[in-house]
Amino acid sequence: MSVIDEVKQRIDIVEVASQYTSLKKAGRTFSGLCPFHSEKHPSFFVYPEQQSWHCFGACNTGGDVFSFVMKKEGIDFGEALRLLAQRAGVTIPSRSETGAEGKEKERLYQVNQAAAQYFHNLLVNSPAAEKARNYVTNRDLSPKTIADFQLGYSLKSWDALKQYLMERGYTEPELVTAGLVIQTEEGKTHDRFRNLLMFPILDTRERTIGFGGRVLDDSLPKYINSPQTPVFDKSSSLYGVNLATAAIRQQNTAVIVEGYTDAITAHQNDFNNVVASMGTSVTEKQVRTLKRLTKNVVLALDADAAGEEAMLRSVDYENILDAEVKVIILPGGKDPDDVIKEDKQNWQHLTEEALPVVDYVFNMTTSNLDLNTAKDKSLAVDKLLRIVAEIKDTVRQAHYLQKLARLVKIDERRLDAALGKIKASQGKRQIKEPKPETIRQATRPLLSTPLEEYCLALLLQHPELKDRDEGLLPDYFESSQNREIFTAWQQAKDLSSVKGKLDTALHEEVDALINRNLPTNQIEQKYANCVLRLREKFLRSLEAKREEVLALEAESGGTGADLAKLEEEGIEISVQLGEVFAQKARRSPEQRR
Ligand SMILES: [Zn+2]
Repeated sequence: MSVIDEVKQRIDIVEVASQYTSLKKAGRTFSGLCPFHSEKHPSFFVYPEQQSWHCFGACNTGGDVFSFVMKKEGIDFGEALRLLAQRAGVTIPSRSETGAEGKEKERLYQVNQAAAQYFHNLLVNSPAAEKARNYVTNRDLSPKTIADFQLGYSLKSWDALKQYLMERGYTEPELVTAGLVIQTEEGKTHDRFRNLLMFPILDTRERTIGFGGRVLDDSLPKYINSPQTPVFDKSSSLYGVNLATAAIRQQNTAVIVEGYTDAITAHQNDFNNVVASMGTSVTEKQVRTLKRLTKNVVLALDADAAGEEAMLRSVDYENILDAEVKVIILPGGKDPDDVIKEDKQNWQHLTEEALPVVDYVFNMTTSNLDLNTAKDKSLAVDKLLRIVAEIKDTVRQAHYLQKLARLVKIDERRLDAALGKIKASQGKRQIKEPKPETIRQATRPLLSTPLEEYCLALLLQHPELKDRDEGLLPDYFESSQNREIFTAWQQAKDLSSVKGKLDTALHEEVDALINRNLPTNQIEQKYANCVLRLREKFLRSLEAKREEVLALEAESGGTGADLAKLEEEGIEISVQLGEVFAQKARRSPEQRR
């Protein structure tokens, strides 16, 4: 029996889905509010007999337990498989990625590891690294810590690393892909990291995925990070997670701090469950990464960062984790680094006394109000009800509604009615103007893309479409896994060889596409429409990106030539969009018939 079958046999989809939404039995199926979209009437169904699920509402999609977890956790098939296998107590032989993509990634891990060793050796031994050594000494970092975190130093040179790695058999394109070397417009290359204290970033599986580099003086920018690469996505990576995994599992809690040195100092003082978000506020992807290790997350924030917007986001994280997020508010603008160095016990105390984020918001909001006055009551209700409305867990929502009612001494039923109104308007708001987090998600490879999958299903189920050239391009697929399936289909001679061109983790999806229920009439027209819509979507997003660049260029006083080029491109895009609209106009009467 395959590992996948074994996992399927041991895992019950009803049980898994129930963790995310409460399910009611109805005949042979279970139904509930869809855990993927916000709704008032259940359109999410689970079929225990087929071990599958489907949302007939906004999602209009379904699948098996793997796709459920992939979708819910934002992970790929292989990761979902490992997660469920662990849950089921099935051991998987350590996954070695197959295919060209797997090999490319393997090379990137290797070249990053080689660079990390090179930087580390320089920091420890090179006379040129004296300033960097002084820096770590002044920060009280012990030799053991420097070795544990493989801290390093990059020489003040344009090509020292490049030369070193090329002598060891790595190619220039590999170094560029890894982000270690920058390629200029003229095609010349040079080292990205120069004269910096280097922090290698590793994943939970101890693979070196990227780097952070810190300047040794007061110049700006203070930090230079690896760019996005096939193995590095800053927004989902957590610094120190490789050294924190065991402690996070053991203590069943993770603490997120902001800076590299905050995490390092914490570890040096035996607070081993600490990871760093690397200089930015915590992202949804980082929370999802942690969720594989624990549900209990504590955010260490300084008072400035603990604003209303951050608190609203934290409630989103609670919804992802399906658990409370706690916050530590750092005293007087201090970093965790300072707090721990000053007094270890104080840090310990702060962690233990961390407040659930919603309680913190309640305290913060009401501390300056006089809740005996009508005006302040109304203020408190306005602010806090909005937060309470964001809580998805019904028990916790009820708890805080009650708390608010008691605080302002207003009948809970009245507040509940007001809550209902807010939720309704939030539902509308989310559709019209997605929050920044949702926009960022749109670039994520695992986003639900029904049109893309529909198009792929058409292609896979109707070999005759292969001869119809509607101008469909891989670029039109936003989701990289769909893009990969499309590319495989393009290269494959027939349906049976499509799978051979894909990573095994994707075979399941190909099967789902092949077996998908499709209308059987007017296939060619449906396909043409599909391509047209994908093209329009692609062009629109391209246009949005272009405008963003244009705005940035204008801000930084870019050269006229660059602006002119961008304007030209803009004209090209609008011409193409015009074509799309013209084609659509020609087609719609046919469709109505
Ligand atoms: Zn749904």
